[in-house]
Amino acid sequence: MSGIILLLAQALIYFGVMAGLFRLRHMMGLGAFFCALGVMHFLETYLAAVFFIQLPFGLLSPGSTVLFSGKLAIILLFYIREDAETVRQPIYGLLIGNFLMVALVFTLRLYGSPVSLPGYNPDLVLIDQMGALMVWGTTLLFVDSIALILLYERFRRVLPDSLILRSCLSLALILTFDQIGFFIGLHIVTGTPIDALVGGWVAKMGAAVVYSTLMGLYLTLFERDPQELAPQPLADVFSKLTYRHKYEELLGKSGRDALTGALTRERFETLGQAILARNLAAKSPVSLAILDVDHFKSVNDRYGHVTGDEVLRRVVDCVRSEIRSDDRIFRYGGEEFVIVCENTPHAAALACAERMRLAIHRTLAQEFAAAPTVSIGVATCPGDATDIRDLVAHADAHLYAAKAQGRDRVVGNHPSG
Ligand code: GH3
Ligand code: MG
Ligand code: MG
Repeated sequence: MSGIILLLAQALIYFGVMAGLFRLRHMMGLGAFFCALGVMHFLETYLAAVFFIQLPFGLLSPGSTVLFSGKLAIILLFYIREDAETVRQPIYGLLIGNFLMVALVFTLRLYGSPVSLPGYNPDLVLIDQMGALMVWGTTLLFVDSIALILLYERFRRVLPDSLILRSCLSLALILTFDQIGFFIGLHIVTGTPIDALVGGWVAKMGAAVVYSTLMGLYLTLFERDPQELAPQPLADVFSKLTYRHKYEELLGKSGRDALTGALTRERFETLGQAILARNLAAKSPVSLAILDVDHFKSVNDRYGHVTGDEVLRRVVDCVRSEIRSDDRIFRYGGEEFVIVCENTPHAAALACAERMRLAIHRTLAQEFAAAPTVSIGVATCPGDATDIRDLVAHADAHLYAAKAQGRDRVVGNHPSG
């Protein structure tokens, strides 16, 4: 009696977890369900070969009775709720995965005997037997699964109203066929006694009844209303990781200007003051340069906006080539850019701005008939201002001065060469 309770308890646990994973398919995808099915398939084959219990009606293996019958029931349930296209995935996956496992074990065996470790001897006989049984069991399972679905569809015509009875009959027939088929293999490979054929068959018929009842219960209780199955994210650590990843991706994308790849004005608004505050606390100078393309309107007017856009891209490329990797460039307005350099005193910033201006001058003169130039105004915190707005205003005043002095130049507190 305790044997039957053991089988029932195992069937309940197995079905409960697998149906639960299946139920969560809209939240976590089918991958978790498939993986669990694959792992159970391995345990099932192992148990079917080595673990038997004696019941009044004969010898049987919980691996076959619970796990194998359960897997077929789960595949049928899967077919009932999803479709043939989807149920094909685990059927082919199990077939290919098991053949792969056997192939790998076979190549390992070509090597010869592994090193034996103290107190432990690898059971190579088991590995060899498992290989043969796996191939046989997997091939049978492949046939079983397809035949099960075909039978179920056939019974639909005869028994249109009873899903449980239909499932039970299809399962019982397929399990009978499989019991005979698998037993032949088992008998040849491991010499399992004939007693196990009958005992296993009776147990599988019981499994067909139990599993089809569980399926019926599951379907009426949990899968009645297709509306409530709307996809919902599952809140776990992975969804947080996914969220963070997406957030960073979004920040990375939305925080950058699509045309030039420079950081956006919005990023400047959020980052600017924070950068100043951090460097003020560390007593480290921050320099800010505002760069404006000279007579850019006429570039557009004479050569068109496409050329104008290309000029802006090249300006940013040139600036990038002259600044350090942790300096930042923002697109502040149409053809105005702000460059923020931390840990940079005023004189160094002027020199850097001068290098930018020269690089742009040289590059644009080579690449564009218009040969546009830029003017740059530079200011430094804390010398010129300690607030980001004041600092921008200070640099802007210098830019204005650069324009007034004839453009194509850098202006700061100490006019450079
Ligand atoms: P100044 O030397 O005084 O700065 O002269 P400017 O012509 O550059 O001055 P203004 O600021 O009046 O002109 C800026 C022009 O930049 C006007 C606008 O059409 C153009 N512009 C702004 N954004 C873009 C853009 O994304 N692409 C292109 N091609 N042009 C842009
Ligand atoms: Mg401008
Ligand atoms: Mg301009």
